[in-house]
Amino acid sequence: MAIETLAGVAIVRTPTDLRAWTRSQRQAGHSVALVPTMGALHAGHLSLVELAQRHADVVLMSIFVNPLQFGPREDFSAYPRQLLDDCTLASQAGVHAVFTPDRTSMYPPGFQTHVEVEQLTQGLCGASRPGHFRGVTTVVCKLLNLAMADVAVFGDKDWQQLQAIKRMALDLNHPTAILGAPIVREPGGLAMSSRNVYLSADERARAQAIHRALDEMQTQVSAGQHEVATLLEHARDTITAAGGRIDYAAVCDAEALTPLLQVDRPARALVAAFFGATRLLDNCALVP
Ligand code: AMP
Repeated sequence: MAIETLAGVAIVRTPTDLRAWTRSQRQAGHSVALVPTMGALHAGHLSLVELAQRHADVVLMSIFVNPLQFGPREDFSAYPRQLLDDCTLASQAGVHAVFTPDRTSMYPPGFQTHVEVEQLTQGLCGASRPGHFRGVTTVVCKLLNLAMADVAVFGDKDWQQLQAIKRMALDLNHPTAILGAPIVREPGGLAMSSRNVYLSADERARAQAIHRALDEMQTQVSAGQHEVATLLEHARDTITAAGGRIDYAAVCDAEALTPLLQVDRPARALVAAFFGATRLLDNCALVP
């Protein structure tokens, strides 16, 4: 297999070549970590690479804007694509190979098999974005099958996605360990996201209210306020006062994602809110 490189990192473009690459790594005795992304890399993605490096000898990053996980009125066409910059960052971070397939090689004509995690994906983002998680778990299942990695790393930033992927890996007996990495934030607290480039300077400043609202929730919980309705009312007010439009704000069991009335066990506060036209996600642990 001839290895193409871009900005100093090996580029793998087809599922067949990915299998060959992984097989060669395994034959050389290397353990492999997979870091799936949609590109437009930022420090959040690079923190996943750092965690991956602590768990395996070589790191494979995938960069694929997966059409299956976008709704018809979502930003698939507008989603930022910058392969050369991404490869430069990946190379500097010590990524060994980037898998960047085209749409047809992932979903050839006749493709008709999907993976769906049924319950965990019903609420929260699943309610606002029908079909989104089906697209995510289908592509991640394919990536896990192709990469045959020892570990795969995902961000806590997309908490519901992480829980769904952990469940899928368990239910479908994937041999790859699924690891979650902490949320990386901009200096003002806004969770890093490839979609933050859509925000105006003013929206970006106001969007810090999401993190502030989550922080305040934990402060209130630590002070003995365990009533979810009260916590959420305050959080909604904080975000709305900053001009955000809330898609959802919820406090759920951290793993099962069932809504809680009281913070009486390890819980997760999760928010999706629009600033301008941009939908932003954030979440945090709530420890009683
Ligand atoms: P994306 O490219 O947005 O699909 O994200 C690829 C991976 O990076 C997912 O596992 C995300 O959860 C993770 N990720 C995105 N933003 C952050 C962040 N700010 N901190 C940590 N992980 C992140």
